[in-house]
Amino acid sequence: MPDDAIVAHENGIANALAAGYGLLERGASAVDAVEAAVAVMEDDETFDAGRGSFLTQDGRVQMDALLMNGENLRTGGVACVERIRNPIHAARLVLDHSPHVYFVGTGAERFARQHGMALCDNMELVIPREQERLYRAQADERAGLGDTTFSGPLDGVAGGGGMDSHDTVGAVALDAQGNIAAGTSTGGTLNKAPGRVGDSSLIGCGCYADNLSAAVSLTGWGEPIMKLVLGKWAVDRVAAGASPEAAAQEAIAYLFDRLGGHGGIILLGPDGRFGLAHNTPRMAWGVQTPAGAQLGVTRNL
Ligand code: ASP
Repeated sequence: MPDDAIVAHENGIANALAAGYGLLERGASAVDAVEAAVAVMEDDETFDAGRGSFLTQDGRVQMDALLMNGENLRTGGVACVERIRNPIHAARLVLDHSPHVYFVGTGAERFARQHGMALCDNMELVIPREQERLYRAQADERAGLGDTTFSGPLDGVAGGGGMDSHDTVGAVALDAQGNIAAGTSTGGTLNKAPGRVGDSSLIGCGCYADNLSAAVSLTGWGEPIMKLVLGKWAVDRVAAGASPEAAAQEAIAYLFDRLGGHGGIILLGPDGRFGLAHNTPRMAWGVQTPAGAQLGVTRNL
């Protein structure tokens, strides 16, 4: 993220923590807390989720989200939705009310509407900042400056032809009953082809939760994360005895060593130990425990 976006990211994460942790303090479940935290970030235009998401090649917002309950492995996912303000709420409806795990496109929107969710017009989710960003990305592409969909060099090039910011949102939580949950929500990558689904909402890729291992949410270049099923890979390390801190570092190292991928991970065990790691230049994160809240934007470069 650019320097001038750091404060907005920290504020957005502080608001998400307050919403999620406030629920946990009142005895809510980890799933409730994760859903609430993610929804706050979807509503915040700072992030690439909900309104303010990156745009597809044809200038539309197309979003993916997954929510998973580590207590019983109940899961809800939606992808390629265009008319839902909070895809994480739609994912919750799938988790709660469907024998299925995953809905896409108009089927997902229909399911959400049938379960009481109001649909919106896609243009209500599109903001001028993203129209401008898409315009620049497509101009760069035409000028032969390269792909802007996270395959560029880490430091980017003048005019924006390198890696743009990636602002997928995610949360993991542990509740008073000892259950963990995870959620991830995204507008995907800038200038993506319509219909493209990334890692974020795919079970075991950008999100996973199991009380027997850990809860995880990832961000970053989706295709390599998907190929490695990296979320499941990371929680399995915890199940095999690694600390969440070590497993987070190992997962990001594996992503880079194996496929040259870039991303970030948050990982939480059912014992409350957590880890985070990223090999992007920066990642914004926050954690709240009974001892208080911590917020940060860590840097790699
Ligand atoms: N992982 C997301 C995707 O590939 C993008 C991101 O995390 O920013 O759709």
